Amino acid sequence: MYEHGVWRLHFVCRVEVDVADAPGDGVAGIDLGICNLAAVSYGDESVLYPGGALKEDEYYFAKKRAETDDSASREAKRLDRKRTSRRTHFLHTLSKDIVSECVERGVGTIVVGDLSGIREDENGESRNWGTHGNLDLHGWAFDRFTMLLDYKAETEGIEVVTKSERGTSKTCSVCGRSDDNQRVERGLYVCDCGFVGNADANGAENIRRKVLPNLATDGGDRDNGWLAQPAVRLFDRSGGRFAPREQVTGRES
Ligand SMILES: [Zn+2]
Repeated sequence: MYEHGVWRLHFVCRVEVDVADAPGDGVAGIDLGICNLAAVSYGDESVLYPGGALKEDEYYFAKKRAETDDSASREAKRLDRKRTSRRTHFLHTLSKDIVSECVERGVGTIVVGDLSGIREDENGESRNWGTHGNLDLHGWAFDRFTMLLDYKAETEGIEVVTKSERGTSKTCSVCGRSDDNQRVERGLYVCDCGFVGNADANGAENIRRKVLPNLATDGGDRDNGWLAQPAVRLFDRSGGRFAPREQVTGRES
């Protein structure tokens, strides 16, 4: 190429980004929430990730922060940095665990509920998250979590899609109805069709269905014990990772 009076050689390098093939064509749905930070439905299995460890941290740091006299002090800044790195570590670990569970189950697509539903109720009002001083946690955590999940899933060849959460917590994932014959009692979703299951797992299954062709529902005859008894994975502080509840002692039992 002749340019500005001199000949130049141009080399073009193509760099292939190493992305794995999708582990399979399964679909997983994730419902993000407060009590359970994430509920995951695999279509025949559901897994809950309680947010207790994260909340304990929030209480701890809120308390320590209140004890410092000067909110601009070095100590206050140190606490803020530490809190942020603990949150980040927790969310890294959570997204990593979900992606590796997805790989194990041959999942090629993860559907995540759109977060606007988390922050606003049906009328578009901000939901009341209680008085525990962790109001800002959830918007922050969910955005961060989704970003980390997206990134980790991509390297495994898994696609992450977001879908509106609208109606997913109210609809019965077994009979498909959403009228006045369903209710949530103490974390259990109860429908007149006979289905009783974990409310967050029910929501996650509805989110999962959003990318599936419309399935004929069978009025509740299908075996849905997996929605009634989700597995629970807890953050194990000693190991810094998530593990089945049975293996994590002393917390969130
Ligand atoms: Zn039903």
